[in-house]
Amino acid sequence: MAGTLFVVATPIGNLGDITYRAVQILNQVNLIACEDTRHTHKLLHHYGIKTTTISYHEHNEQQRTQELLELMRNGSDVALVSDAGTPTVSDPGFRIVQAAGESGIPVIPIPGPSAVITALAVAGLPTDEFLFVGFLPSKAAARQNKLKQLVSVQATLICYEAPHRLAATLKDAASILGDRRAVVARELTKLHEQIKRGQLTELAQHYGAEETPRGEIVVLIDRNPIEPAITSIQSSVSEVVARLETEGMDHRLALKRAARELGLSRAEAYRQMLSERKKD
Ligand code: SAM
Repeated sequence: MAGTLFVVATPIGNLGDITYRAVQILNQVNLIACEDTRHTHKLLHHYGIKTTTISYHEHNEQQRTQELLELMRNGSDVALVSDAGTPTVSDPGFRIVQAAGESGIPVIPIPGPSAVITALAVAGLPTDEFLFVGFLPSKAAARQNKLKQLVSVQATLICYEAPHRLAATLKDAASILGDRRAVVARELTKLHEQIKRGQLTELAQHYGAEETPRGEIVVLIDRNPIEPAITSIQSSVSEVVARLETEGMDHRLALKRAARELGLSRAEAYRQMLSERKKD
């Protein structure tokens, strides 16, 4: 009989944040696949878990997936863990979960912490709809483009960010998304936990003025406070297309880019542009 793949969430800081079931499963599986074996050993040592470990990270993901599938086909149970939080969430693991599912190997979640949900729970921003975008691109131009795509999203926006890019990201977000309410959640569940709330411009100024903050960070941004009126979207398709054309882009490409910037499908952008022209 085939074994099982358990996807096990581990603490994001405080070692106490692990479930009874996670400890039980980590004790009973044949093998624990870890993003970094040395890192996971600290957790295993803390709980007296002696199960064998093997590395599974972004550089050996493809090869290891095959090896682990073979072991599970032959009856071994494997637990997948990452350095912190829920594996596969901005972490390796998606490949093996997909492959196991496709091979008919049972995949069982052992839920627990994830920084995105932990931060959302204490941010005090609406939680009915949220969009987690992982890490924003590190290069300024790509990051700004990504933020432009998010302008009209009617949901709390959440991203992970590196400390040395925090101030720049907050500044870009303020100028592209507008001065919305936001929260910076840093070092959650750890000794120097900090949850800082404010307007994007205030937070950009705060983190721009002090030396690079330490630790791990989640940024949360309130939804656009103004529901985008259909008419303003319609006019902005033409505006964006016109702007891109004056920058030398041909019409087809400009429409494609405008659609992306405004978070619309190409067909929708085209339809809105035509409807606006009719009104003129
Ligand atoms: N799999 C993890 C999860 O479920 O949250 C995320 C892994 S991702 C590689 C690491 C990023 O998550 C960090 O750079 C930071 O943005 C965020 N993060 C992880 N732990 C955190 C913590 N204790 N406080 C704030 N952010 C954290």
